[in-house]
Amino acid sequence: MGEKGFLVVISAPSGGGKTTLLNNLLKLDGDFVYSISATTRDKRGREVQGRDYHFLTAAEFKKMKDDEQLVEWAEVHGKYYGTPLKPVLQWLDTGKVVFLDLDVDGGVQVKQKFGDDALLIFVKPPTYESLKERLKSRNTETSQQIEKRLSRYPKEMKKGHQYDHQVVNEDIEKATKEILSIIKKHSKDI
Ligand code: 5GP
Repeated sequence: MGEKGFLVVISAPSGGGKTTLLNNLLKLDGDFVYSISATTRDKRGREVQGRDYHFLTAAEFKKMKDDEQLVEWAEVHGKYYGTPLKPVLQWLDTGKVVFLDLDVDGGVQVKQKFGDDALLIFVKPPTYESLKERLKSRNTETSQQIEKRLSRYPKEMKKGHQYDHQVVNEDIEKATKEILSIIKKHSKDI
């Protein structure tokens, strides 16, 4: 991409199709890398330790936080999530475009710390109903967990307005292209 590394924060209401989008984007450029978050939530379905997340105990997470080893952290659905600092700094030093999959609180914290070195993209579902359907059909959570995820929707949509760009994910290919062009433009501008 360019010479200078920067962060791309992707946020979306839970079930907004963010994971598929991210996987598509990461294949498009050799300079794109994914920051693996630390979390205290349980591993789901086919998730792999160290690939999808660093699954930590509450004590391990607290230690990282206390040692200032996290770029940002947030409590989501009663569990902790945070971005490990060290790999992010190394990637920025070597000119990488670092993708962060964060909730809206995390995104806002990253913007405050990194300013123009962070590009915030909010991915919106076409409708609230479509989001509900997607959450149900992926079959990875109980109906209680789904309700909990959906209850954050208004807050996420509200904070999403503070993001640099909003992209509607109606068609995954179209949304992928739109985000790629936003990233390319940013890379030229900084
Ligand atoms: P999930 O449990 O579905 O994987 O993720 C729940 C939420 O936590 C999603 O909105 C996801 O973007 C967010 N999340 C994942 N990793 C991080 C992180 O490191 N920091 C913050 N602030 N949010 C995260």
